[in-house]
Amino acid sequence: MRILVTGGAGFIGSHLIDRLMEQGHEVICLDNFFTGTKRNILKWMDNPYFELIRHDITEPIRLEADQIYHLACPASPVHYQYNPVKTIKTNVLGTLNMLGLAKRIKARFFLASTSEVYGDPDVHPQTEDYRGNVNCIGIRSCYDEGKRVAETLAFDYHRQNGVDIRVVRIFNTYGPRMLENDGRVVSNFIVQALRGVPLTIYGDGLQTRSFCYVSDLVEGFIRLMNSDYIGPVNIGNPGEYTILELAQKIQNMINPDAEIQFKPLPEDDPKQRQPDITRAKTYLNWEPTIPLDQGLKLTVDDFRERIYPS
Ligand code: NAD
Ligand code: UDP
Ligand code: UDP
Repeated sequence: MRILVTGGAGFIGSHLIDRLMEQGHEVICLDNFFTGTKRNILKWMDNPYFELIRHDITEPIRLEADQIYHLACPASPVHYQYNPVKTIKTNVLGTLNMLGLAKRIKARFFLASTSEVYGDPDVHPQTEDYRGNVNCIGIRSCYDEGKRVAETLAFDYHRQNGVDIRVVRIFNTYGPRMLENDGRVVSNFIVQALRGVPLTIYGDGLQTRSFCYVSDLVEGFIRLMNSDYIGPVNIGNPGEYTILELAQKIQNMINPDAEIQFKPLPEDDPKQRQPDITRAKTYLNWEPTIPLDQGLKLTVDDFRERIYPS
């Protein structure tokens, strides 16, 4: 199959491309390199079945493909808040363009949505039928509301134009290739511990997240894309940790003497998050296989090699 991956030069997109190329597909990667890098896809550059197109999805484009994995959008709060209007355009105009493309070429369309559609949830763990608690005028809204509109667009193109959609809600994912300046918690703590500077905990560190290793996530993507179930479906690892526990794990792994520094909690920061993965288990026979300690070790090895090349 010929498969289009938007945001393919990013963290998750590049791992997805690795899997698709290894399965023998032809892959087109579309990216504007806002948070993605060529380094992530370097190994495929000379492969005749791989094509890289520098393009901003807020502009229309005409291409031919059998499937579209639509991931283009900055995912770290630091990056999506850098230019919030651009984040909304990417989520709304960008997703509209990719759905218009899917409609024209009759491609199956996969939307990378997010657990952020649940906002600061008052249902725990979060099931897909929970409608969320999102502030529509806060600093996270460009991303949360943008993704909510993206889901709405996908379902309306499905109902109105018969576009064949799949919608996944991704929970916090980590792994090799996250940028050193990504700003998300796992990469921040690892980079800080490796550089010997204090680990920055925002707030009291009692807020929780559930961390999924990237290879598990990609397996869930491919199962959903090739199943009959349209979703939305949560993909994440239900293992839930406080941010303080995560900091201590990374301290123990890299440098037990690393200091912890407490900083103010950003506005609207969700207090707790854990996926209910009953749907993924039932419809995709999927569940995560990489425990946090193992995934963190693989991620630390990757950052160590980039920060202190051997
Ligand atoms: P990332 O920032 O590493 O990747 C995003 C990619 O999209 C980058 O390569 C970036 O250059 C590209 N991009 C951004 N705006 C674009 C535009 N206008 N046109 C073309 N390309 C553009 O982030 P990631 O962690 O790989 O996330 C990928 C997707 O998964 C995103 O849609 C994100 O919202 C979603 N997601 C990720 C997580 C997570 O924990 N990593 C959680 C929930 C949802
Ligand atoms: N679009 C695109 N590539 C295509 C087909 C459509 O980028 O191959 C864009 C198109 O420019 C439009 C959006 O997708 O902005 C929605 O397309 P649709 O056909 O649904 O709507 P219309 O063009 O009729 O407004
Ligand atoms: N966080 C933190 N220190 C950091 C980066 C993040 O304590 O250096 C916290 C952040 O406030 C949030 C949690 O870790 O409570 C997860 O943040 P991240 O940006 O990784 O993801 P998201 O908030 O989007 O789930």
